[in-house]
Amino acid sequence: MRPTLRLGRVAGIEIGVHWSLLVVGALLVSSLAGSLLPDLQPDAGGSYWAAAVIAVAAFFASILAHELAHSLVAVWRGQRVEGITLWLLGGVARLRDEARDARGELLVAIAGPLTSFVLGGAFVGLAVALDAALDEGSLLPTVAAWLGVVNIVLAAFNLLPGAPLDGGRVLTAAIWAWRGDRRRAQVASARAGQVVGWLLVAAPLVAYATGTGFASIWTAMVGWFVVEASRAEEGHARLAGTLEGRTVADLMTPHPPRVHDWAEVGQLAALVPDRPRHVLLVDWSGTPRALLETPLLARAPRDARVRDVAIPLARLATLPPDAPAHDALTQGLPLLVVDDGTVVGVVGVDELQDSQGSVRSR
Ligand SMILES: [Zn+2]
Repeated sequence: MRPTLRLGRVAGIEIGVHWSLLVVGALLVSSLAGSLLPDLQPDAGGSYWAAAVIAVAAFFASILAHELAHSLVAVWRGQRVEGITLWLLGGVARLRDEARDARGELLVAIAGPLTSFVLGGAFVGLAVALDAALDEGSLLPTVAAWLGVVNIVLAAFNLLPGAPLDGGRVLTAAIWAWRGDRRRAQVASARAGQVVGWLLVAAPLVAYATGTGFASIWTAMVGWFVVEASRAEEGHARLAGTLEGRTVADLMTPHPPRVHDWAEVGQLAALVPDRPRHVLLVDWSGTPRALLETPLLARAPRDARVRDVAIPLARLATLPPDAPAHDALTQGLPLLVVDDGTVVGVVGVDELQDSQGSVRSR
């Protein structure tokens, strides 16, 4: 989830919002001001719209606090954090590294819901205090009470036991500590996430059939997101399992052929007749400048310069050949394998797929 707008940094962690947050913000403000607040307090002294805007802003700040708690504990445990994005269905903290041990996995996972529980309790306390202190008809105690409830619901919801929810990470940590196998723990918890996700997708139907209204179309949307994300996590964990004990050098296509970057697409077949996947484009001095992914050439005009359809090297991640193969998963692909300042290989999506094939056929 890439942010549309970057707000700044907190403790070195980049905070951003995705445009979809505006959509959910507008919907929340209109439902609070249009029905929930007037229902709870029919003859209020203040503006429902102003109260709703304050409530929603504080709610988003609460989600940010939840994600910051995950991120700060991760940093404390030695994991790199790329940033936090707030979006349609809440917040996402993007961690660059995996937890080093089951204890780290548990601490990072639990920090978010714990923060939400504490915030929920604090808002409920604030609601009671404001109710006693302010005149009859003030909307602030109602807003504080609503924030208390949504934070507690947020904490409880996130503790559902299936990845990618926080409860799923707790489950991963528990199975990992018990069986000693991180990947199997991740696969089990991702499968649990698929069950949790489908139950959430079905929840509005059950709510409608029983007339209890405990779930809405949002629950189903979150459920669908959980199903998709847990499937991706299962795939990632299985892939990571097959890379265990291998290095980037085991995956890479070594020494891609070099071609001058002013060559034309139409000349390439003559320059590199064995149709390599990757070609390194070099300038007049022989310095590598860009990487050409030859499968992408099919639609390029034959008289285009190869450098115009290639990826500049500055945009690619690099890894040393002896780095663990798993590191390739957490970087964008393709990536360059660089030893002592020299490009010695390339890892792309195809190399990863090949590595799967070679494992399966073994
Ligand atoms: Zn969380």
